[in-house]
Amino acid sequence: MASVTSAGVPQASSEVQGSPTFLGTAEEGHTRTRDIRSLPKAHLHLHFTGSMTVGLLRRMSEEHGIVLNKELIDASPLRVPANRRGWFRFQRLYDMARRCVQTEQDMRTIVDEAARIDAAEGSRILEIQVTPDSYAKIMGGLTPALEVILDEAKRASERYDIAVGVIVAAARTHHPLEAKTLARLAAQYVGDEPGSVVGFGLSNDERSGRTSDFFPAFKIAEKAGLPLMPHAGELLGPEHIDEVLKNVHPVRIGHGVRAAENMQVVRRIVEAKVTLEVCPASNVGLGVYADKSQVPLQLLYSAGVHIALGADDPLLFGERLEKQYEDARAVYGFDDEAIAQLARYSLEGSVMAKKYCDAALTEVDEWIKSR
Ligand SMILES: [Zn+2]
Repeated sequence: MASVTSAGVPQASSEVQGSPTFLGTAEEGHTRTRDIRSLPKAHLHLHFTGSMTVGLLRRMSEEHGIVLNKELIDASPLRVPANRRGWFRFQRLYDMARRCVQTEQDMRTIVDEAARIDAAEGSRILEIQVTPDSYAKIMGGLTPALEVILDEAKRASERYDIAVGVIVAAARTHHPLEAKTLARLAAQYVGDEPGSVVGFGLSNDERSGRTSDFFPAFKIAEKAGLPLMPHAGELLGPEHIDEVLKNVHPVRIGHGVRAAENMQVVRRIVEAKVTLEVCPASNVGLGVYADKSQVPLQLLYSAGVHIALGADDPLLFGERLEKQYEDARAVYGFDDEAIAQLARYSLEGSVMAKKYCDAALTEVDEWIKSR
């Protein structure tokens, strides 16, 4: 079975076992609790529109004279019964939020705020995910829609202590030919520095469309040197993760939590050294699990999976990255050594230039040594 060392680091082993290793809770008094904000980390799963705060969305809606559904500004999916969560409600609210983004300045403000807030929460790297088709209309084309985001990512990186890269994600709900177009566009901006396209993904309703229809788009992106990080294994089960592992060769998988339903798939993820971008607030918000305690974070961690915690869409799920790390401690019983290891996994899972990761890893070591 996977074991946990005194440093809280799971040891890779050929035998992956299903039972999670309990690491102890802060309440038990034998673990130290350091400040999560000062822990350097990378945020690898955050969507452009969903990164907004409710305050920003409200400001934009007022400016453009749009009346927002009260649900969007007053409620959180986490506060409704599990049977009222789910994808369609999420999509309806997301589309409404997207309609409030009407100008270039709106787009710049979203990137700026995401970078500012993430930097304040201790992220040294942010890889923000965007589907530029959604904004092509307001910007007069796909290219300017992407370029304005890239430009602002670069500027925000200079303003705050954070390196912001952009992941171009095709939407499963759109025609696969559009995904190919996006991959060709993304290929023109490949890089690993702030303001570059650093990866290519596939997002939106996982149950919609066939993943195999998007393989050609992934091929184009791969050929251009882009690391791949599609969503899989949240709304669909481990068989979808398997399909993606075999055919797409991802460096990371968005979510992937349902791998826990098949330990052979978990083992394949570990062997392939694929990082899972685990977003507990999203899983619960979409009704995949009834509550946070059901999200198999312990099981995956104990099995040796590299996990990068993410917030996905804080606008709709009501929580940002810092809360996911706080919950690693409060809900899943991770001690500070294990929390530091989650931060290391996130940094090592980043596809941006190694210097950003290396600098932050040194700071993680200092964090754990701090009193
Ligand atoms: Zn996502």
